[in-house]
Amino acid sequence: MSASSPITRAIFDEVMVPTYAPSQMVAVRGEGNRVWDQAGREYLDLAGGIAVNCLGHAHPELVATLTAQAKQLWHVSNVFTNEPVLRLARKLIAATFADRVFFCNSGAEANEAALKLARKHAADHYGPHKHQIIAFNQAFHGRTLFTVSTGGQAKYTEGYAPLPGGITHVPFNDLAAVAAVISDATCAVIVEPIQGEGGVIPATPEFLAGLRALCDAHNAVLIFDEVQTGMGRTGTLYAYMQSGVVPDILTSAKSLGGGFPIGAMLVNNKVAATFGVGSHGTTYGGNPLASAVAGKVIDLVNTPEMFANIAARSAQMVAGLQQINDEFNVFEAVRGQGLLLGAALNAAYIGRARDFVVAAESLGLLCLVAGPNVLRFAPALNINEADLAEALVRLRAAVAAVVQA
Ligand SMILES: *Cc1c(COP(=O)(O)O)cnc(C)c1O
Repeated sequence: MSASSPITRAIFDEVMVPTYAPSQMVAVRGEGNRVWDQAGREYLDLAGGIAVNCLGHAHPELVATLTAQAKQLWHVSNVFTNEPVLRLARKLIAATFADRVFFCNSGAEANEAALKLARKHAADHYGPHKHQIIAFNQAFHGRTLFTVSTGGQAKYTEGYAPLPGGITHVPFNDLAAVAAVISDATCAVIVEPIQGEGGVIPATPEFLAGLRALCDAHNAVLIFDEVQTGMGRTGTLYAYMQSGVVPDILTSAKSLGGGFPIGAMLVNNKVAATFGVGSHGTTYGGNPLASAVAGKVIDLVNTPEMFANIAARSAQMVAGLQQINDEFNVFEAVRGQGLLLGAALNAAYIGRARDFVVAAESLGLLCLVAGPNVLRFAPALNINEADLAEALVRLRAAVAAVVQA
């Protein structure tokens, strides 16, 4: 095969490390809520690049910001700082509980930084015995060795032993289980306000409040992994704002860059002071291109109009899913918050989430699974009523196709 032959999906199977089995279509262009493949077929996008494209594809203001920055300065490393990163840090601090920010390039790296910081904070203040991390079954925190070990899905750590130690997993939303294992040897509790990959399962407000109280009682750091729930996804800039529970550390990525890779660890002054020069680092983190785009994403997302749209489209989507369910009886529950929604399949369709996604794609609709039993939807936060209505028409047709197959 010559290096200049036409690009096809088949080439993937020859040249890529086989960690993925992507769809047969190859996307070539995106605009707003629509994507087109090599054959010119159009798809409505309720996948959003896995909760990343929070302003859709090729948003004109993001394109303008990125191209302006591309003509200005691409990269200088952290040997130097830059204007976009300082602007971005100030915006995140002004909009949240945080006093300081560490930038990186992905969700896994943001969690890696958070877990390292929590360990060092405990070691510096209380001694090395205080190193236990409490995490939850089905949690997802990324794919580095530390973050897969903290995550609660055994399939992601198989074959990678020896794993980092000192991590205890307990059932999600089970405060008594946390109370039973937490002690003065605990350095951190890490939790997703809504488990995303684990099946779109919201934490109850009492659970999050209880975690805060237990962490306070044992001088442990509370980490909210908002990589998927952050940047407007659940209807507020971050999900913690609805729970009334303030973490010590919050991690953000996915929608933060609207499609440009960036991650961030937000932290209060008390915990941030543990890191000194050289404690942690990254070559690309806080890169001017990524920072400029993320700064514009915040400006566009963090507005009352955007949150009103998220609430309205969320209600439209939930009603649409319920209507489909009234007709076909496929879902056991519709859950989630804002525009991170899951439809859990009932017993008759257990394990078949992938079939619905494949059927949807063949009918011009992109959506996601969250495990084998849950359909997941994470559209652009600025999706309009008409596009979402059309997406629901296509989803209904996909459900009909699976049910009638
Ligand atoms: C996607 C995700 C991550 C990992 O982010 P990457 O950018 O893939 O490293 C971590 N935590 C949660 C909750 C996520 O949804």
